[in-house]
Amino acid sequence: MKMSKMFVQTLREFPSDAEVVSHKMLARAGFIKKLTSGVYNYMPLMWRVLKKIENIVREEMDKAGAQELLMPFVQPKELWEESGRWDAYGKELMRLKDRHDRVMCLGPTHEEIITALARDVLKSYKQMPVNLYQIQSKFRDEVRPRYGLLRGREFIMKDAYSFDTSQEGLNKEYENMARAYKRIFDRCGLATKMVQSDSGAIGGSVSHEFMVITDTDAGENDVFYCDDCDYSANSNHAVSKLLPAKTDGAEYFSKTEILDTPNTHSIEELCEFLKIPASIILKTLVYIVDKKPVLALIRADKAVEETKLMNAVGGVDIRIASSAEIAELMEQKGFDAVPGFIGPNGMDGVTIVADETVKDMKNFVVGVNQTDKHMVGANLDKDIPPIETFADLRLVEAGELCPQCGKPLKVTKGIEVGNIFQLGTKYSKPMKAVYLDENGKAQPYIMGCYGIGISRTAAAAVEAHYDEHGIKWPIAIAPYHVVIVPVNIKDEVQMKVAGEMYESLKNAGVEVVLDDRDERAGVKFKDADLIGFPFRVTVGKTITEGFVEYKIRETDEMLKLTPEEAGKDLVSRIVK
Ligand code: ATP
Ligand code: MG
Repeated sequence: MKMSKMFVQTLREFPSDAEVVSHKMLARAGFIKKLTSGVYNYMPLMWRVLKKIENIVREEMDKAGAQELLMPFVQPKELWEESGRWDAYGKELMRLKDRHDRVMCLGPTHEEIITALARDVLKSYKQMPVNLYQIQSKFRDEVRPRYGLLRGREFIMKDAYSFDTSQEGLNKEYENMARAYKRIFDRCGLATKMVQSDSGAIGGSVSHEFMVITDTDAGENDVFYCDDCDYSANSNHAVSKLLPAKTDGAEYFSKTEILDTPNTHSIEELCEFLKIPASIILKTLVYIVDKKPVLALIRADKAVEETKLMNAVGGVDIRIASSAEIAELMEQKGFDAVPGFIGPNGMDGVTIVADETVKDMKNFVVGVNQTDKHMVGANLDKDIPPIETFADLRLVEAGELCPQCGKPLKVTKGIEVGNIFQLGTKYSKPMKAVYLDENGKAQPYIMGCYGIGISRTAAAAVEAHYDEHGIKWPIAIAPYHVVIVPVNIKDEVQMKVAGEMYESLKNAGVEVVLDDRDERAGVKFKDADLIGFPFRVTVGKTITEGFVEYKIRETDEMLKLTPEEAGKDLVSRIVK
């Protein structure tokens, strides 16, 4: 490829709407161009990277025994009604109507379509196990599209679905996919951590995510992990053993009574006022789950993890209640307390869930829905209504102890590039997707699903490989391997050597760009670093002594070699 002909435009500055490194770099280096919010053109450089990732994914999925197909991007409402997700999926599902008023949606994922397809084809146990996958654009009307390709609305995904006749079969395929994923990300030059995770809207029981660990804002997930054993989990699923804490308030309160606690709107203010630790306060938080209020009770020195709470009440959408919503709830129940003084008493009919930490609490402090007052010395069942649901609602904190080995847990940020789920019969049962077993009896398929964000993986690779000058693509997914830069295109010798190297490297199977633009060398070097070619060969004045300058982008190492030596080295590193 000649640089003068390449359909690329590098920018002088980072675009103003770009917050994270990968978005900044990919936009500035001319890999992506935004069309509208969360929707990007993949320019030729980007498309080469994406195709390389796709091919690695394809090779490893095929090797693992999966079969590729391609399902439609536009999907009919009826199948989503069969699975129950038409209502459950929420606003991320982009819904539309055709000219006959038939309601459709843009595919955000394909469980419904593949399950319907399987039930037409997989009639007998003899046809299983099967694993089917596709690589395709998805559309999700994300609440907050941001970070460029990391969280787009239209993005490329590999999604695979397995069909088995037993849980053992599913376990085996799940392990098989976990191994394939490890190979895929290794080959892409990406270090990943496989972490336990919540199964979310897709459902099912067991699931893991593959995280690229990063210390930047681009990591939207908190990952808790243990250095002493292999435990690691997304914060939405992580558990821990607590450090010892005072959970009995007996030494502070000799009887149960309602005290004046003026202006104690926050836990800190209440602790300060009563001179007590937060661990003897029972905190009441108001959430809105699927449009209905839910009270979450937890020891006040701990925080609620929203996904855990949502799962505990079987919801699909959760947020903290606004002060207006809290005021409305208070009015309905005949109270006028402001936030900071809310409690579970008198809340009949409202769903109340308590965290496991509440079980150990005695003689505690709790809000009683009266502004500027709290009950102290309170006890479960006696002073607050009996709690029907206890669940783990707690957000783990670094320093709490590993559930497996008891050592302190650490926390880091992660970008989820892929995940694997055991779906079981979550889709096959409601969609009546069955096969006949050995005894001629109809049984629902035992399913698994396995996703990889192809475009997100490309962006994550940039988050993991860059410096202040630009991208440092891992060789396996770089758009081109080498750029050859003649310093002065008017110099015949330089152009001749550059041209010869260009041809011979191309013939040897190296992907090479010749920067034949009539630009200052400095400009060309800047672009080469920004675009992130793994190798740069500069043909300048030293060619009169028989040498070119050879630069390795990853390490910034510079070598003086003859064109032949440089060519040999490149071929040996690149051509496998
Ligand atoms: P997230 O929690 O990040 O929203 P998800 O759990 O919704 O991800 P899946 O539905 O399982 O993700 O999709 C499979 C893969 O697709 C994810 O692991 C991720 O790599 C990618 N992906 C999901 N949403 C997006 C998006 N908005 N933009 C780019 N890639 C995405
Ligand atoms: Mg999502």
